Amino acid sequence: SLSLLYKLKKLHPSKLGPTTDANPSHNDRIGLIRGDITSLSVGAIVNAANRSLLGGGGVDGAIHRAAGPRLLAECRTLDGCATGSSKITDAYELPCNKVIHTVGPVYDDIHPSRSETALRGCYKSSLQLAVENGLKSIAFSGISTGIYGYPSMDAAVIACDTVQKFLDGHDGQKLDKVIFVTFEDKDVNAYNHVLPRFFPPS
Ligand code: ADP
Repeated sequence: SLSLLYKLKKLHPSKLGPTTDANPSHNDRIGLIRGDITSLSVGAIVNAANRSLLGGGGVDGAIHRAAGPRLLAECRTLDGCATGSSKITDAYELPCNKVIHTVGPVYDDIHPSRSETALRGCYKSSLQLAVENGLKSIAFSGISTGIYGYPSMDAAVIACDTVQKFLDGHDGQKLDKVIFVTFEDKDVNAYNHVLPRFFPPS
């Protein structure tokens, strides 16, 4: 079962402003868990991949280890993936149905808006792929917040904003559950702060 860590009573002051335009009915469709994304039996888990799609460190390495070598074999047929885009594969030994590989931006602090556009593209294209493949639930790892250096708080705002807009849209009705998976303290803290502002507890 999913522990909903965002049921925090104490909200910090935030630059995000009021939450009155957020739709509380989204609450039961949003989850936040801390742990290993490879253990989740959801429709799709989202891998923070690199453009080669041939595996890497961090969550990418963990997903390939848990899925087994057939995942890499399928990834070799995909001809990589552009930054801000996503591709879908089978999940092999993983308990989920599919893996969506998305390529986050390496954070560019000279041009943060370029990084933001790419990161939004990751979330949007992953959600779209899930719906196109008839999947009802999707779990996101923290895209770009590891080795790629995206500031956790900014990344959490973009993740929540993109998901909220998608759930509000036509295709959003086709998804039952979107889960944010955190791993390190900095991302746990960022989501605990940001998520209740976008999806207030009912
Ligand atoms: P990127 O290169 O996109 O920054 P990383 O894999 O370095 O990708 O980090 C992405 C996120 O994945 C980070 O927030 C990191 O803490 C997290 N992470 C690493 N291993 C796991 C795992 N097994 N399950 C879930 N998240 C993980």
